[in-house]
Amino acid sequence: MAYRKIAMEHDKRIALVAHDNKKHDLVEWAKYNHVLLEHHTIFATGTTGEILERELGFTVHKLQSGPLGGDQQVGARIADGEIDFLIFFWDPLEPQPHDPDVKALLRMAIVWNIPIACNRASADFMISSPLMDGDYDRLVPDYDGYRSRRIPGPESG
Ligand code: PGA
Repeated sequence: MAYRKIAMEHDKRIALVAHDNKKHDLVEWAKYNHVLLEHHTIFATGTTGEILERELGFTVHKLQSGPLGGDQQVGARIADGEIDFLIFFWDPLEPQPHDPDVKALLRMAIVWNIPIACNRASADFMISSPLMDGDYDRLVPDYDGYRSRRIPGPESG
């Protein structure tokens, strides 16, 4: 498969999302890493964003609350190339009303090959990676082959 390179700049656009039982973990993580986070642009689903702004005092671009469409907004921004990094502390022990959106968001991150961390240890490794502070060419499959695929017509049924 062919790949295209998408440049990730030094200052990255990071989306932070946490389910209710994981919000405390995310806030603790963000506080611990606030120096590393400071120069990046932060997006978050509504409630996560409000809590982060209150607890950390930095500006967060707040989207809708996750169950009201926020996860889908993050996914759409990933597809549009407007978010290049996702920290998503999802709750493995509790069903969510927006489980299909959660799955869709994780899928978008894979489709566009953006780094994702779904727990604190992964987020620690990711945020402290030397790659965070340089330019990085993200390899994304060239989907032109998919876009120009042959669609079966009525005669082939
Ligand atoms: P919230 O959404 O930050 O608005 O609570 C998080 C989520 O469940 O996706």
